[in-house]
Amino acid sequence: MDCVFCRIINGELPSKKIYESEHVLAFEDIQKAAPIHVLIVPKRHMESIMELSENDVETLSELQKAIKQIAELTGVATNGFRLVSNKGTAAGQTVFHLHFHLLGGRDLELTLA
Ligand code: AMP
Ligand code: ZN
Repeated sequence: MDCVFCRIINGELPSKKIYESEHVLAFEDIQKAAPIHVLIVPKRHMESIMELSENDVETLSELQKAIKQIAELTGVATNGFRLVSNKGTAAGQTVFHLHFHLLGGRDLELTLA
């Protein structure tokens, strides 16, 4: 499958790894939009948040744990950060493997678009 994040997960492509657990990998965005810009990714390929089920309890709980730990370890937990997941081209999704952007390290504009 020609998915750039699957290729990072299986080690075919390099990444700056920030965090890893059994079902989740997090690495630096290649084109950082903020001083801290981490992508948090489930290892199992799924296109977007719409394919993640409430029954995926291990992945969901690991994602939650990853978000908190990465916020702490990158130093943005206290001052604040933004968590974003784009679904579909209208939202600007360019990599069709579910991921959450964790952004921080500077004041972020008060915009949703
Ligand atoms: P999105 O537009 O929400 O689908 O976000 C995709 C993100 O993946 C963008 O911010 C890209 O900069 C990032 N990206 C694409 N290829 C790579 C890569 N090989 N390593 C790290 N980040 C990447
Ligand atoms: Zn994938």
